[in-house]
Amino acid sequence: MDFAYPEKTQTLIAQLNAFMDEHIYPNEARYEEELAAGNYWPEVIEELKPKARAAGLWNLFLPESEHGAGLTNLEYAPLCEIMGRVMWAPEVFNCSAPDTGNMEVLARYGTPEQQKQWLQPLLDGEIRSCFAMTEPDVASSDATNIQSAIVRDGDDYVINGRKWFSSGSPDERCKIFIFMGKTDPDNPNRHKQQSMILVPRDTPGITVVRPLPVFGFSGTPDVTGEVRFENVRVPASNMLLGDGRGFEIAQGRLGPGRIHHCMRLIGLAERALEKMCKRTQERVAFGKPVAEQTVTLERIAESRILIDQTRLLVLNAAHMMDTVGNKVARKEIAMIKVAAPNMAARVIDWAIQAHGGGGVTNDFGLAKAYANARMLRLADGPDEVHRNQIGRLELARYR
Ligand SMILES: Cc1cc2nc3c(=O)[nH]c(=O)nc-3n(C[C@H](O)[C@H](O)[C@H](O)COP(=O)(O)OP(=O)(O)OC[C@H]3O[C@@H](n4cnc5c(N)ncnc54)[C@H](O)[C@@H]3O)c2cc1C
Repeated sequence: MDFAYPEKTQTLIAQLNAFMDEHIYPNEARYEEELAAGNYWPEVIEELKPKARAAGLWNLFLPESEHGAGLTNLEYAPLCEIMGRVMWAPEVFNCSAPDTGNMEVLARYGTPEQQKQWLQPLLDGEIRSCFAMTEPDVASSDATNIQSAIVRDGDDYVINGRKWFSSGSPDERCKIFIFMGKTDPDNPNRHKQQSMILVPRDTPGITVVRPLPVFGFSGTPDVTGEVRFENVRVPASNMLLGDGRGFEIAQGRLGPGRIHHCMRLIGLAERALEKMCKRTQERVAFGKPVAEQTVTLERIAESRILIDQTRLLVLNAAHMMDTVGNKVARKEIAMIKVAAPNMAARVIDWAIQAHGGGGVTNDFGLAKAYANARMLRLADGPDEVHRNQIGRLELARYR
């Protein structure tokens, strides 16, 4: 087993680290200031995007596609981790959620016309996108419950439904929704009832009702929202893959989307540990640096163990996705989806404690980082659902 990254990856790691040092870390304070001044989408991001593109640090995700940088999941993992050190950084490299998952859907399942109209501007970072599945009225961790209607009417489909947690929807730059709903509610096969369809944001009948803060933060970093769809009419050619094939697409989308979140969370946890180590060596309490209190040493050591364990699990899942495919790798994907947010939330929580009162303010970025890690125990499916899947797959080995 060779644990070294290939030369191509090492070169990109060096370039990305240099870009982070030159352009991302020095702008962290500015990003927060812009947010605090009421701009949900700080301009610093649009300013930095052309620089990242010019540096060749663009669309680094998208394995097995001519559209991306041509990296495997395994090659992308350490890069995604580095970007994850600053929550808003992935967007600068056009590698942020939910756009990466949505681009992957369009690259895999879109027609050439759909790709030209929506994938290309997304790849160019000109627009953003939204994945609208979850509904306030039903338990959406079981996606067969989704009840929005997509009804055929001549050459069109007419859409009605209420969605929430539609991440990116309040952003004016978000121009396209991938909408999930029922085209065939009476189909005895519950997994054939749903479809996914492209809905341009400016279609009449769409109302972004409100943004939904997460633990009180407007964005962590994506602003999520509630959206109403009332008699929204789109051409039949907007259907993705075909009627009743929504679950097929959902399976394809969530593998890559999930692993990207996990890779980023490792970077976020690394950053929290770094802050914890620096702060506790600077502050003296009861006669010695906080770092030298045994409880702090314990937590620092345990954080290192947890982070490294999780990174190995994530790299293994990435390797499996590259070699045997997302479907066969579903257990490994589910495992990291549970492990990474729990690990990150724990490490960040210890970092908050080590910062004392400062840890819960916005001064150190830890409170928002915690909110992000904690919410990822829900987004893309709650822990329990993934654990159920892991447990069932484990039991099946002995049946
Ligand atoms: C910040 C954020 C961003 C999000 N972004 C998006 C997005 O862009 N697009 C989108 O469509 N959705 C998005 N989601 C929604 C997310 O995927 C759902 O919240 C999640 O799937 C759970 O669905 P639910 O909220 O309806 O919870 P419910 O289905 O009502 O479940 C509630 C709880 O029941 C328990 N539970 C459920 N099933 C089981 C089980 N089998 N065994 C044991 N316990 C169980 C779990 O504890 C679960 O948390 C986002 C969520 C958050 C918090």
